[in-house]
Amino acid sequence: MTGSKPLPPGSTVGILGGGQLGRMLAMAAAQLGYRCISYAPAGDNVSADVCADFFEKGWGDTAALAAFASQCDVVTWEFENVPLTAIEAIPQTMLAPHPKALEVAQDRLNEKRFIEQLGGTCASYVRVDSDDDFARALERIGTPGILKTARDGYDGKGQWRISSTYEAKGVRFPGRTCIYEGKVEFQAEFSVILVRGADGTIHFWDSSANTHRGGMLVQSLLPAGPAVEAQVEQARDIARQTADALRYVGVLTLEFFATPQGPVFNEMAPRVHNSGHWTIEGAATSQFENHIRAICGLPLGGTETRFASIDMRNIVGEDALSAHKILAEPGEPHLHLYGKREAREGRKMGHVTRVSHQKP
Ligand code: AMP
Repeated sequence: MTGSKPLPPGSTVGILGGGQLGRMLAMAAAQLGYRCISYAPAGDNVSADVCADFFEKGWGDTAALAAFASQCDVVTWEFENVPLTAIEAIPQTMLAPHPKALEVAQDRLNEKRFIEQLGGTCASYVRVDSDDDFARALERIGTPGILKTARDGYDGKGQWRISSTYEAKGVRFPGRTCIYEGKVEFQAEFSVILVRGADGTIHFWDSSANTHRGGMLVQSLLPAGPAVEAQVEQARDIARQTADALRYVGVLTLEFFATPQGPVFNEMAPRVHNSGHWTIEGAATSQFENHIRAICGLPLGGTETRFASIDMRNIVGEDALSAHKILAEPGEPHLHLYGKREAREGRKMGHVTRVSHQKP
């Protein structure tokens, strides 16, 4: 992969995971003259529609993983919960970013320790391995708080919000390692998204203010407002140190809470991120294109924001069925639908980005 020598056009980029992030990565790769093949277990693998080939195989099928890798020039991922055993079946020199990033980010305890070692601040938290631990955690941290599985959670899944001791009585330890963390009274949420090239060059996109509902992102807004803007630099510093420590190549996302005491780290995603979808139309180079550029050894593109205001909203569940109406709106609505077969409740089906040269 990924030294400084660029992969020639016609080379093949392998993507582990078959969701919308893989779909948008593959579209960006195609524009640069690469072909993509993806690998994911059976499911609604919407990246298959835009890839040259698709391996619908399990993460435990090491022969299929090796066959997949044999057809690729570089292998990346769009999903941070790819089991490390699957990653081991792929020649390590083909992987970008380095799999150490997955190891850190797959476990909330690991990632918090990692960030604390770099001098970052996290919400107060305690490891929970049993009902007794949970009771002790409640005593130590108090309520309100959130019990989260240490691994495999996403979009608010594997999380239990606990607003009072009374409410905690109704929540049982789910049988797998968790963390219980205190609720952060934040002014805003934001993400730092960066791209790092193999030579160590780092570019940041502007940070959007992100709104979540039930643990899932619903909206990203730019400009992010004074509370976020005042602490982006401090958050970037942690993100830069994280990327350097991991010798990261590609797009890396860190999510923060803006608080009066400064940025509080929430979690990281060693991949392109939902809160960066606005970069497709809103930035000089999108997160998807720059990830492909980084892992293929191409020069990185500029990350400047091109509009005075940007509003990205997710299209969730059955809203997707009438989303085409957005196209009739005045202005410049940019509609993206992911081609998912079933519009289930709470499922990300697409997004729309509205851009304007007017300040909000
Ligand atoms: P996570 O999966 O950890 O990113 O959590 C999803 C969302 O839940 C976050 O983006 C926040 O909106 C909310 N959340 C998670 N942890 C906390 C916390 N400790 N305090 C306040 N809100 C939180």
